[in-house]
Amino acid sequence: MSFSVDVPKSYLDMLFVLLFLPTLLFAQGNMKWKAHDMDRPRPKIITPPENYLPVSPPSDAIVLFNGKDLSLWEDMEGNKTKWIFKDDYFECVKGSGFIRTKQGFGDVQLHIEWAAPVPAKGHSQGRGNSGVFLMGRYEVQVLDSYDNITYADGQAAAIYGQYPPQVNAARPPGEWQSYDIVFHRPRFNNLGVLEKPATMTIFHNGVLVQDHVEIWGGTNWQRYTPYSYHPEKLPLSLQDHGNPVRFRNVWIRQLSEQPEQAPNYPPAITLSTNDMQKYTGTYEDKDGEKFQIVLEGETLYLLRPTNRKDELIIYSKDRFALRYTAIELHFHLGENGIPNEMTLTFTGESFKFKKIE
Ligand code: MG
Repeated sequence: MSFSVDVPKSYLDMLFVLLFLPTLLFAQGNMKWKAHDMDRPRPKIITPPENYLPVSPPSDAIVLFNGKDLSLWEDMEGNKTKWIFKDDYFECVKGSGFIRTKQGFGDVQLHIEWAAPVPAKGHSQGRGNSGVFLMGRYEVQVLDSYDNITYADGQAAAIYGQYPPQVNAARPPGEWQSYDIVFHRPRFNNLGVLEKPATMTIFHNGVLVQDHVEIWGGTNWQRYTPYSYHPEKLPLSLQDHGNPVRFRNVWIRQLSEQPEQAPNYPPAITLSTNDMQKYTGTYEDKDGEKFQIVLEGETLYLLRPTNRKDELIIYSKDRFALRYTAIELHFHLGENGIPNEMTLTFTGESFKFKKIE
């Protein structure tokens, strides 16, 4: 066997493992329970806080439904939905199919209010079933889970088939309930392979029920759906599961997906111990307040009267800064490069100090 044959093969194997290992780990690492297992412990039933709904949208939210019309929604073929719109809510019509937003979304904060039908009809998954599908793929279950037994990963506020809610915070049918959802979409690399799974945090009626859980893939009934590449923005959809579930006051905030810009600091320089020594000493402002600069080992520190001691970074011979706080020191250098004055700037204000010893 020659070297030139072996290397590409093992390289390809390694590439395969590197590319697909995250998917395999997510798939296997979380599957302690099979989907829809009735033996999986059901969450404790709690009484949610007093009803404070509706929650009005903040000014930067897109109001997807404000009780006026369904103009921002369509059916799954892009036509006008058959879901009905009454008073301040809209309601699922059996057999009319899902409803989706015309606009696509990626990372979002979503507020949605819903109510299960009264009188309650059916049982388990047949009672007040709908669903909030982030990106049309990742379902937060909507179900009448008040006095209704079903599998834990299929009750209200479950990530369907994956994560039961931490507690059952359901209200009785007919009462308005809320989901507040923070969703981060999955990240795929340039080859379309999963780099980072989607995550969700959910408050049901103001109670934390999903705490930044990692979603394994598309949610589904009796089917495992591993991640497959999809666009960065996709419509939000609501499920037609045959029950007249009502929704109102739907608003969404698009979360910034831009990583924070790194600050534009000038590159730090290194001074010899001799040169650093020139900055040490006591500096006094016009009110007689004294600051000191001391050298310990290879590092300069600023000592303030309040007993604060902060490490200094040297950007240039006349410009230092605190390592962790946005405070800069500018020096006026005299003969032999020895400072005779220091200006400290903080939040746009400047304070002058004279070197006194
Ligand atoms: Mg559902």
